[in-house]
Amino acid sequence: MNTELLLGDEAIARGAWEAGCVVAAAYPGTPSTEILEALATYQEVYCEWSVNEKVALEVALGAALAGVRSLAAMKHVGLNVAADPLFSAAYIGVNAGLVIVTADDPGLHSSQNEQDNRFYALAAKVPLLSPSDSQEAKDFTKLAFDLSEQFDIPVLLRITTRIAHSSSVVTLEPRRAEKPRGYEKQLFKTTLLPVFARVRHIDLEKRLLRLQDYSDKSPINRMELGKPDFGIICDGVAYQYAREVFPDASFLKLGLVYPFPRNLVLDFARKVKELIVIEEVDPFIELQTRALGLPVKGKDFLPRYGELNSGIVRIAFAEKKIEKPVLEEEIPNRPPALCPGCPHLGLFYALQKQKAIIAGDIGCYTLGALPPHSAMDTCIDMGASITFAHGVDKALGKSDPRPRIAVLGDSTFFHSGITGLINTTYNNSNVITIIADNRTTGMTGHQDHPGTGKTLKGEPSKPIDLETLCRACGVEQVIRIDPYHPRETKKTIQNLLKENKSAVVISQRPCALLAGKQGESKKVNKEKCIGCQACLALGCPALSFADNKAFILATTCTGCGMCVEICPKGAIE
Ligand code: SF4
Ligand code: SF4
Repeated sequence: MNTELLLGDEAIARGAWEAGCVVAAAYPGTPSTEILEALATYQEVYCEWSVNEKVALEVALGAALAGVRSLAAMKHVGLNVAADPLFSAAYIGVNAGLVIVTADDPGLHSSQNEQDNRFYALAAKVPLLSPSDSQEAKDFTKLAFDLSEQFDIPVLLRITTRIAHSSSVVTLEPRRAEKPRGYEKQLFKTTLLPVFARVRHIDLEKRLLRLQDYSDKSPINRMELGKPDFGIICDGVAYQYAREVFPDASFLKLGLVYPFPRNLVLDFARKVKELIVIEEVDPFIELQTRALGLPVKGKDFLPRYGELNSGIVRIAFAEKKIEKPVLEEEIPNRPPALCPGCPHLGLFYALQKQKAIIAGDIGCYTLGALPPHSAMDTCIDMGASITFAHGVDKALGKSDPRPRIAVLGDSTFFHSGITGLINTTYNNSNVITIIADNRTTGMTGHQDHPGTGKTLKGEPSKPIDLETLCRACGVEQVIRIDPYHPRETKKTIQNLLKENKSAVVISQRPCALLAGKQGESKKVNKEKCIGCQACLALGCPALSFADNKAFILATTCTGCGMCVEICPKGAIE
């Protein structure tokens, strides 16, 4: 048998390929990014980085309605962006299968919240599959396509970081030869005018009833009967932890979590003395079990935040109480920092200590909020920097003289900054928007975007010019700066702050990790150094201080030269 060790994300890509998927779209976001990166290696599948998750889902829906199996992938907060088409897609249904992957991040490894997207299934009225390992990630992806077509509905596949980024053995199978179904106009089905949408809602409820019946009978919702003292209901990675801690217990392992298999749960409850739900983050299964009138234990013992692990499950049920997540081992706390030679260092050096209200955004540059820069006041969601700054401007008006600044990355600007920028122009706002343009989607691992001139498949495309785009959004003053010249950058920004007029600043330099070494590592001349620590304000991790003198770690210094410009004594050579 052909097997391979695959990440959960890679297994989903393999499952989509085996299922005959033809179109896939995503916006990169940890922990979902590797799905499209793996899928793009299969030549039979068209794959794209869309500018945001809403666009990705609309692209996949369009392809599914045009008759080919399609997939959209995103991290959990990405589904908030895509929620609008998600709810409509449930009404419309599909022609060929449509699968939407949501990769949740319990424990907030790289996210602004730890929302539990199982509730999206309930709210949007779409089925939700929840795999427990890489094999299931692949199998459930294939099943999701089948269910989508069988029940004329998009299917949500929900994974978590542990499933996405853990490897386990997967059996490989050949690609299914799917015949494109072709596009056919179906006005009543796909045009959600109120008069048609009312009918589609009734139809959706009927489809859900059929799915409910399927959920009760599906082999992926299975009882594993052991000792009858207590029965554990669980899904996803929680199943692995619970199995490890309670090897002899009776289990109801849920693979199709919504529609909730009510009759199966009632049947399971009759076979055991006590019911326990073990699940991460929110009590999704527990609430629905309680709604059946069944007494159940779960979140009375387990935390509603953070990831679970077998240690937490063991302690929770041994001590019948748990106050906070317990780590297997205490890990030393290391504050996050921008990279040595990162161009954002020069930008934030220029922004620190300015008397301004600075709205931040989502990306590696969010670290500019931390010392030594402390140059951001907020980080809300993708694209919210400009709109937040606009809101502040309208709220404060002239009552507060501090200029309003928005800082966001180039990829984030393409994702959802453009609409905010148009809004500031249209509504006469005084916001200085700074695009930290490092020519990549940095935080998720250097994915391309519309400004880089390259598609996900590595094909050349027309790079969108940020300056032209900003001018087209109505901004008259667009300035380019090079953050590798921090003094000049600071002067430019100070002048703009004095003017206090709407403008866009494009701070352009490639990400240091892509650019590589810029020159020879710099050294501190101890004779000249007076220990003033002015260079430390740059926040470069290659720079430190010992024996009242600055010190540069040669192995990490990229030789970018920013610190050379800052030192008032010419001590860095
Ligand atoms: S800024 Fe120059 S003089 Fe001051 S500590 Fe750094 S290297 Fe020394
Ligand atoms: S040259 Fe200076 S700022 Fe650039 S990486 Fe080296 S120490 Fe950091």
